[in-house]
Amino acid sequence: MYNADGLIDPFGRTISYLRVSVTDRCDFRCTYCMAENTSFLPKKDLLSLEELDRLCTVFIEKGVRKLRLTGGEPLVRKNIMDLVRQLSRHLKSGALEELTLTTNGSQLARFAAELADCGVRRINVSLDTLDPEKFRSITRWGDLNKVMEGIRAAQEAGLKIKLNAVALKDFNDRELPEMIRWAHGRGMDLTVIETMPMGEISVDRTDQYLPLSVLRASLQEQFLLTDIPYRTGGPARYVRVAETGGKLGFITPMTHNFCESCNRVRLTCTGMLYMCLGQEDVADLRSSLRGSESNDMVAAAIDEAIGRKPKGHDFVIDRRTKLPSVSRTMNVTGG
Ligand code: SAM
Repeated sequence: MYNADGLIDPFGRTISYLRVSVTDRCDFRCTYCMAENTSFLPKKDLLSLEELDRLCTVFIEKGVRKLRLTGGEPLVRKNIMDLVRQLSRHLKSGALEELTLTTNGSQLARFAAELADCGVRRINVSLDTLDPEKFRSITRWGDLNKVMEGIRAAQEAGLKIKLNAVALKDFNDRELPEMIRWAHGRGMDLTVIETMPMGEISVDRTDQYLPLSVLRASLQEQFLLTDIPYRTGGPARYVRVAETGGKLGFITPMTHNFCESCNRVRLTCTGMLYMCLGQEDVADLRSSLRGSESNDMVAAAIDEAIGRKPKGHDFVIDRRTKLPSVSRTMNVTGG
């Protein structure tokens, strides 16, 4: 039973987008995301795939129209395709408009065809550099070749790809023009993201942080950028790049947040619901899920949580602010 009224928060925003971190584990250790010696949750703490399906289904019944699987790396969760296959029934029924995922691409060669077969149409692939050595250093041990193979496989399977690159000062800022040409030349849009102060990571974020206003000004020295109203349901604001014909997105949680149009909430692999990426408040859906065979309790817990969705976040990165704005790293809540 699709709820036409949907989920509405105290600020009148309709919540129609759920991001689900299906695992906190990742096969990379991107330096801006996690510390090298990060310890992961014991497997017993994770919701089972059946429980994740049940929770997602309640959200869909309550009006969620777009669902993104993320992580950690979603494609390293054991039997993840069973969940994707299960969830795809909501695409068939029309209750869900889009089922998608954010991935580092390392496992895509293996899964791309099956994802397409399950009705996934577009995916986001995170890629911060096209240089194999730099790739290895930013991911701490990732193999760029595997990601490239994955991207090729996804395109052959008919999946539309958007690349996401975190803009990092003195790492990829000078390379971004080449990345734009490369992505657009292969039919992919590219979105750049400001690094967010999430969790202790053992490097100084102030050294990495590049405001996208600065990046945009420097890109404008070589490209003609025109704002366009294109939206994908996420926080990116897009420009058309005249020289390539492609779209370039900017996600600017630091310099300009778009909390007023926020339409999403985030579920962790342990069943905790974060109503805002940049706040600590969390709702425990696992106990309601496990507390009753009927979905009524969990549906009520979701309503109560949405009623607590905050107006916005207030991330700060500067030399005086030593503590991260939120204590958890991005792999916990899911990017
Ligand atoms: N493993 C998958 C991937 O690489 O896309 C999904 C999870 S990953 C946490 C999602 C996205 O968050 C990636 O694009 C990653 O670069 C980004 N990310 C991680 N930590 C971040 C931070 N502190 N600030 C901004 N983006 C971050």
